[in-house]
Amino acid sequence: MIQDIYPRIYHNEYRDTKPAENDFILIFHKNTVLVRFQNEKLRYPTLKETCDFFCEYYYLFSIDQYNYFLAKSRQIVSPTANAEPAITLNGYHYENISIFRTAFSRHTAFAGITAHHLSNWYQTNQFCGCCGHSMVPDHRERMLLCPKCHNMVYPRISPAVIIGIINGDKILMSKYAGRSYTNYALIAGFTEIGESAEQTVMREVMEEVGLKVKNIRYYKSQPWGFSGSLLMGFFCDLDGSDKIILDKNELAEAGWFRREEIDLEDDQLSLTREMIMTFKECRLSYESLPQKN
Ligand SMILES: [Zn+2]
Repeated sequence: MIQDIYPRIYHNEYRDTKPAENDFILIFHKNTVLVRFQNEKLRYPTLKETCDFFCEYYYLFSIDQYNYFLAKSRQIVSPTANAEPAITLNGYHYENISIFRTAFSRHTAFAGITAHHLSNWYQTNQFCGCCGHSMVPDHRERMLLCPKCHNMVYPRISPAVIIGIINGDKILMSKYAGRSYTNYALIAGFTEIGESAEQTVMREVMEEVGLKVKNIRYYKSQPWGFSGSLLMGFFCDLDGSDKIILDKNELAEAGWFRREEIDLEDDQLSLTREMIMTFKECRLSYESLPQKN
């Protein structure tokens, strides 16, 4: 999956530090990122290459000995949100963040999408939600502080579930309505305030396909910066009728698929795809365990 960058090591401990000339600088504009390609590899600009265009940087994280920073650009504080990107660097261009889903080196893609998650958080918390004053970064931890009313804001992560619903030798796969991602996926949804992840599973399945499920069991989790989420994967069994009642606002289609009918390959990126492949290749170890009803 996208976060599996071994043997490289991701360090997210907060450090109050400034960039050195060879540190990487992430520059976003809406859903695009400034990059170039070098020997078919994705590259981010270094501080040296940004030519003092920016006056402030946020330390993000390190991967091995390489440090990544977010440029606090004039664009980020611009009130003209629809303006075209004004920041250009020699040899670099803006690419949609979906570039991180394509097969470049895993750690570069993971760095990019994780930086994008943090960038969104900084961008949408420039002002205090209590009093409207400008927020300032804290120096001890990753937190934004209002110097006027002392409101503290921590990075926001939205928990969400991915659900593999199993019906004997079949799994339910669906396609989203109105999204650019058009492959088959699993039922998914954000956890609402006041519910457990298991309750999210039951509610989302009922809302999106009108089915009841049982034997909900946790599989794996994944940070997913595309939607600012922590995804939690669950498998569960159909409980009762297999008749699908589709929520057409959310889904374009949904259906039951036998293993041999699943025409997908592992993309090495998403928890959704890994769960589908785990079912297809009979790697669900607890399928053979006795289950309570
Ligand atoms: Zn305030």
